[in-house]
Amino acid sequence: MIGTDRFALEQWQALDELVAKLRKRYPSAKIMGHRDLPDVHKTCPGFDVAAWLAREGNVPEELVLDPADTDT
Ligand SMILES: [Zn+2]
Repeated sequence: MIGTDRFALEQWQALDELVAKLRKRYPSAKIMGHRDLPDVHKTCPGFDVAAWLAREGNVPEELVLDPADTDT
């Protein structure tokens, strides 16, 4: 996902679809953010992946990029 810590609704939807496909193909894979790996000092993907998974596709408004706000 290109961005920092907020993403367009279309990006969140595309992420849902992609992860659903990958989960079918790799059912035992553990889904985590780059920042969750040991000894990684990065912030990507810019959100809490475990919390995102737990919400099952419901993205809080503060993580959705307002289309009127795209120059930020
Ligand atoms: Zn990364």
